[in-house]
Amino acid sequence: MRLSSLRLHHFRNYGDLTMNLSHDLTVIYGRNAQGKTNLLEGLYYAAMGFSFRSRHDEELVKFGETDCAAEVTYCDRYGENRLLVKRIQEGKRTRKQAQRNGTPISPKEHYGSLNLVLFTPDDLQLVKGDPSLRRRFLDMEIAQTSRFYYEALQNYNRVLQQRNRFLRHCRDQEKLDEGQLFVWDEALSRSAAVIVFERLKAMEEIERAAGLVYGTITQDREKMTLSYLQKRSDGEGVPPKGLSLSEWQAFYQEELKKRHRLDYVRGYTSMGPHRDDLEILQEGRPLRSFGSQGQQRTAALALKLSELEFIFHSKEEYPILLLDDVLSELDEGRRRMLLDGMGGKVQTLLTVNDRALARSSGDVVFYEVRSGWVEEDAHEGH
Ligand code: ATP
Ligand code: MG
Repeated sequence: MRLSSLRLHHFRNYGDLTMNLSHDLTVIYGRNAQGKTNLLEGLYYAAMGFSFRSRHDEELVKFGETDCAAEVTYCDRYGENRLLVKRIQEGKRTRKQAQRNGTPISPKEHYGSLNLVLFTPDDLQLVKGDPSLRRRFLDMEIAQTSRFYYEALQNYNRVLQQRNRFLRHCRDQEKLDEGQLFVWDEALSRSAAVIVFERLKAMEEIERAAGLVYGTITQDREKMTLSYLQKRSDGEGVPPKGLSLSEWQAFYQEELKKRHRLDYVRGYTSMGPHRDDLEILQEGRPLRSFGSQGQQRTAALALKLSELEFIFHSKEEYPILLLDDVLSELDEGRRRMLLDGMGGKVQTLLTVNDRALARSSGDVVFYEVRSGWVEEDAHEGH
C-alpha cells in the first residue's frame, strides 16, 4: 500500500494541514511538543477510525474548536481510495462519521482497509510488560487481516460483559442460576473457539517472521520462539495441539462449567482468551524473566516487524510503517535494521527529534514541525 496525502482539520494542534505523503520515507522532525506524534495520530485516526493514544475522541478536537476531520488518500492494489473521519457538532450533540470514497462506512468496514503498523517506545515493553499488551498485539494484527476474527472478538467481548454482569447479579441475589449460566457459556465458547484457533494459527507465522528478524539482528547467534499460555482450570499451560473449531468450543464449555462456582464467588469470568498470554522465549527460556534489556528490545522489534510480513502474507501488500520516536531508543545496528531492512518495500513515516538519526539516501523527504506548522526541507532528500 502507498499513501498519497493527508489532510487534517482542527485535529490536535493543527488548524488546516494538507501534506503530500508519497515518498518511500517521510521524516518528520522537530522539537518536543510541536505536533509530530499528533500528525501520526491524525493519519492513524483516518486509517483506523480511532486514536492510538486516547479513548476519548473529543480530546482530538483542537482546543477551542467544535469539529475536526482527518482524511488520508492511498493506493492499494485495487486503486486509489480516500478514508475520512470527521466529528461534527449538531446542536448540543457531536456525531462521528467515517467515509470511504464518500460513502459512510461502519467501524468493521473501516478497520483493516488501510493497513498500518505503528511502533512507539511503548512497544518496547511488549516482551516484559503486562499480558494485555501481548494479547492486544495478537488481536490487532489478526483483526487487521480477518473480518471473521474482528467479529469474533467483538462478540466475545460483548458476551463476556453480559456473562460477568449475570454473575454479579447472581451474587447479589445470593443464588447461582446454573441453567442461565450455561446459556452464556455456550455463546462465549463459540467466539472463544474462533479466537484461540486463529491466534494459534497466526502465531506460527509470526514466529517464523519474527524469528528471521531476530536472527538477523543477533547474526543468528540466538533463536527466538513463541509459546501460547492458556488459562485453564488446572492452572496455566500450553494448549492441546490440533483441535478443530468444534473441539475448541467443547473444550471451553467444559472449562467454563468447571469454574461456575469460582466465577460466581468472584463475580467475573476467570478463564478464556481474555486471560491468556503469549510467551516469548529464547533457547526455551522466557525472555520476560531471563532476557537482558537489549534482548527484550530486539524481540519486541522483531515482533513488530513480523507484523509487516504477516499482513503481506494475507493481503499480498505491505502495510505502511509508522515509527514514532523509536530511533533514539535503539542502537545503530537495530536502527539500520528498521530503516533499511525492508529495502524500500515498506513505505515508512517516522518522527524524530534529531533529524541526523534518519537515513537521508533514497526517496526521502524531510518535514520540520513547529507548533502545528509543517514545512518541507528545501535542501535535501530528493
Ligand atoms: P515529542 O517530541 O515530545 O514527542 P511531539 O512533537 O510528538 O513531541 P505532540 O504530542 O505531537 O508532540 O504534540 C503535543 C502538543 O499538542 C502539546 O503541546 C499539546 O498541548 C498539544 N495538543 C494536544 N491536544 C491538543 C488539542 N486537542 N488541541 C490543541 N493542541 C493540542
Ligand atoms: Mg511525540
